[in-house]
Amino acid sequence: MSGICYRCFKSKEACLCSYIKELDTGVKFVILIHPREARLMKTGTGRIAHLSLKDSELIQGCSFNENERVVKLLSDPTYHPFLLYPGNGAITTDSKAFKEKISGKIPMIIILDGTWSQAKKMLKYSPNLQSIDRLSFNKGYSSRFIFKREPTPDAISTIEACYYTIKEMGELGLAFSDGADNLISVFDRMVSFQLECERKRRELNAPERVPLQIN
Ligand SMILES: [Zn+2]
Repeated sequence: MSGICYRCFKSKEACLCSYIKELDTGVKFVILIHPREARLMKTGTGRIAHLSLKDSELIQGCSFNENERVVKLLSDPTYHPFLLYPGNGAITTDSKAFKEKISGKIPMIIILDGTWSQAKKMLKYSPNLQSIDRLSFNKGYSSRFIFKREPTPDAISTIEACYYTIKEMGELGLAFSDGADNLISVFDRMVSFQLECERKRRELNAPERVPLQIN
């Protein structure tokens, strides 16, 4: 048994800590992680994103309406909060409205880390998150790897969501995106390790444990 790295929550063999480079983007990220996602140590990227982003927080829960830390952050005038969530009414990073809203404030990007149905439930049980501005990407992205448990084709991992946010904001001069590519390098390393483990398992005719397909 190799044991677990209690920093990145990967097995010591798959530990990503030496590949993680801390980024100071000028953007605050708040990753709200569903408890079931937190237990999925194999696929969860929220923790890796948190370790990679200097000004970030990882908060676990299903409902955040009474979560002391979330309530405090949402009322902090230093920040303008945005929920990264697609759909009608979401503003894009290249919109005039986005630029105006963050003027003089630190943008705080809140991400729901879980499957699509977990994210929908987190939002349903968190009225305080329903009322904040929603942000979506300028462009459509698909994940470099699709985890089969995700039903929607455009679902991307939390670490990819952070990367595209920083990249788009960086292109507009609204964030420091130098070194952000490392987020994707760490993600690629994580996925290739998982694929390699799965390949080895299949060679031994073991049942599929982490179904993955290359996009
Ligand atoms: Zn580690």
